Amino acid sequence: MARKIINILGHDYKVTKVPQKRLGEGVIGLCIFESKQILLLNSLTGELLYRTLLHELRHAFQYESGFTQLLHPQSQEIDCEQFASFIVSLKRQRIV
Ligand SMILES: [Zn+2]
Repeated sequence: MARKIINILGHDYKVTKVPQKRLGEGVIGLCIFESKQILLLNSLTGELLYRTLLHELRHAFQYESGFTQLLHPQSQEIDCEQFASFIVSLKRQRIV
């Protein structure tokens, strides 16, 4: 994950790796819409890092597209997880 700025539907999100205390106990990723920031736990590596980034990018997509206002918070989380699984699956099949 070399890129630090990722454009989501016209909005630049800054991706930063941070220590656990910044995220709170048990949290490995966070998308802060107001400041356009994605925070990832700094100890994440490999597929978990990739999946967590995809999950948070999906939150940013939901927000910038207006879906955050339409979807129940639990539905948002399911959508983010399914999106991450979907992209990982496509990557494993070498489609993306
Ligand atoms: Zn989430």
